[in-house]
Amino acid sequence: MKNICILGSTGSIGVNTLDVVGRHPDRYRVVALTANNNLERLLEQCRTHRPAYTVLLDEAKAKTFREQLVSAGLADIKVLCGTAALEEVASLPQVDTVMAAIVGAAGLLPTLAAARAGKTVLLANKEALVMSGQLFMAEVVRSGADLLPIDSEHNAIYQCMPANYHAGRHAAEVRRILLTASGGPFLKTPISELTGVTPDQACAHPKWVMGRKISVDSATMMNKGLEVIEACLLFNVPPEDVQVVIHPQSVIHSLVDYVDGTVLAQMGNPDMRIPIAYALAWPDRFDSGAEPLDLFKVRQLNFEEPDFERFPNLRLAYEAVRAGGTMPAVLNAANEVAVASFLDTQIRFTAIPSIIEHCMETVPIAAADSISAVLAADEEARRVAREFVHTLS
Ligand code: NAD
Ligand code: MG
Repeated sequence: MKNICILGSTGSIGVNTLDVVGRHPDRYRVVALTANNNLERLLEQCRTHRPAYTVLLDEAKAKTFREQLVSAGLADIKVLCGTAALEEVASLPQVDTVMAAIVGAAGLLPTLAAARAGKTVLLANKEALVMSGQLFMAEVVRSGADLLPIDSEHNAIYQCMPANYHAGRHAAEVRRILLTASGGPFLKTPISELTGVTPDQACAHPKWVMGRKISVDSATMMNKGLEVIEACLLFNVPPEDVQVVIHPQSVIHSLVDYVDGTVLAQMGNPDMRIPIAYALAWPDRFDSGAEPLDLFKVRQLNFEEPDFERFPNLRLAYEAVRAGGTMPAVLNAANEVAVASFLDTQIRFTAIPSIIEHCMETVPIAAADSISAVLAADEEARRVAREFVHTLS
């Protein structure tokens, strides 16, 4: 029996994680659930999974939630609040496994706390890794934490790696990583029409149902850009060895190309419960609840080269990882501000890469040799991005 803490339990990954955990009450006990909003959903999760702790970001919501728990006869569940409490529950001695499923930079410190405490870290929050890079990987090595990727592509790559592979190890027998991408909702939209697309159109992903931030990232392909950086860190490979392949069916979740010419792929229906169940059951396997793959329904698997003109964010992400230092943190912060501004209808869809490029050219780049250096770059990039958004709106 393992004890799990789910950071971001009310989000898309959080809900899928609890679905899988709920299928295996003999394997997992829920110790802590954290959320920023959606108290109704959190209450329902508390009724079903009876955690010992919940964490809400702000005090007012925590107070309301305490009252709701009392009314529901669940007064024994503790309600904590604030960012320090996120780190606290992620490193509780009784916690074995932490699902890092907060979206964006807000997830960095709690995810890092879990790594430092040597937990089994199930990493969905790619932004945390992109920002902190080698610092994060070094903490994993130092503490002996097990790091298992949840992003479907990285989970696929992990599954295709040599036996007994651990994240962060360079596998000399691997020639390259082929990172698949659906291409998102605007793969075939005429480029001239992209300037007028709405947040709802950008969030209508053809294959995956996800939170709104990652959905916009998929539409701009910044999601794939962040994943290229994530792959370089998790699998210790240079960016030129990570090739993005557009594969609209989203059946092959990524591939590993070995030096002998063998290419291993991981396939399955596009259902996040598959990578989540893999990581939860690792090194075994168990039922995820996902439908079995029906190849006769799939019929065709197509592949295309990515178009860097249509998706400038992909080019910017490659540039950021090549530049190194705090550049990936700047890319990520600028993107978070740009996406939030787009979702808030302050800027056009096509302004997103312009804001990011402006920040990458303007914010001074430093060595990413401490978390404070990373957080300073993040803060400065947000300031510059907001200023630029202001000139556009
Ligand atoms: P989401 O928006 O659906 O959920 C985010 C969760 O984090 C919610 O519980 C929310 O309450 C919480 N949260 C938001 N802001 C917070 C803050 N400032 N402090 C504390 N908690 C906060 O997002 P999601 O789609 O579940 O994605 C979560 C992470 O997983 C992202 O990093 C995303 O890139 C990654 N991911 C998601 C998918 C997917 O299918 N949804 C796939 C691969 C990777
Ligand atoms: Mg992914």
